[in-house]
Amino acid sequence: MFETDFGSGIAKELFLTLKDKKILFVTQENLLQKYREIIPAEFAVLCVDNMEEAYLAGLNAETPAVDEVVGFGGGMSVDAAKYFAWQRALPCTLVPTAISVDACYSYPIALRRNAVVCYEGEVIPKTICVDYDIIRSAPIRLNLSGVGDVLSCYTALFDWRLMSAAGKGPAVVDRLYNTAENILGELFGNTADIAGMTDKGIRMIMDAYAWVGIEGYNNRYCHFEEGSEHYLAYTVESVCGKHLLHGQLVSMCVYIMSKFQQEGRQNDVRRFVDAIGLSIKPADVGLSGDEVSAALKRANAFAVENALAYSVLNEKQITQAFIDEVLGELQ
Ligand SMILES: [Zn+2]
Repeated sequence: MFETDFGSGIAKELFLTLKDKKILFVTQENLLQKYREIIPAEFAVLCVDNMEEAYLAGLNAETPAVDEVVGFGGGMSVDAAKYFAWQRALPCTLVPTAISVDACYSYPIALRRNAVVCYEGEVIPKTICVDYDIIRSAPIRLNLSGVGDVLSCYTALFDWRLMSAAGKGPAVVDRLYNTAENILGELFGNTADIAGMTDKGIRMIMDAYAWVGIEGYNNRYCHFEEGSEHYLAYTVESVCGKHLLHGQLVSMCVYIMSKFQQEGRQNDVRRFVDAIGLSIKPADVGLSGDEVSAALKRANAFAVENALAYSVLNEKQITQAFIDEVLGELQ
């Protein structure tokens, strides 16, 4: 379903093959500067700087007719390219420049309406082009944070079992559960490849994203990948109003919620993030201890008020003692 090409130097080759078509090339200003020499002058380049629907609709109205759309960059460029392709019913090719997000493999488009995220439309790209050299040239923190939306399976699977046992959602499907566990095993067993961003490490994360994207599309739920760790991350964002690096925030939340699910579960998370060199200290995620504490106090109510899927947050209350202890461990 998601055609992905992997290789070194393949983005430049791809762009050369597209040169004779009318291409809308969606990216961001800093990436345009950095990769200018591989982007053909024939492309109609459009730099985006936010995902507000009204802003994108305005750009779409001003931009000339094209044959295809190419999205080049992180989550914003990719989602904006998906938006233009969706609006115009055109084929789109996505070239991620970092593995910070799974936007390439997510069929809906993450738009903002007055700063609130909403998922609209449906776009399956013609091709996803993963150029190892381009990915490796991204800041390491961006790439490492890419593990967050795979690591989230660790807490999500636990929550899914709770949901299934309580009869509060779809029952656990062994095939999905076991595949997600195997993906986690691969992740935990290959930390050197992730830390070094080798071809194998990059491919492992992209393949995991693809699997999550395909199964999410086919099943219309993502309980094998999204659970209380994401709900805590959403609570953090709503409490502090900051835009944080998603995967790094989620990784911190996996640590916190795995400990909340069962004392000791967090130790594997600690070993993993330490081994790859991803910091999950609140300060490095962009948060103060008070902000994390406030989010933890809010998390149970946030899950109920927003009718989030059943998880450990519906089964027990986060206590002050837990907050003090986990904040101590994260420092
Ligand atoms: Zn996520």
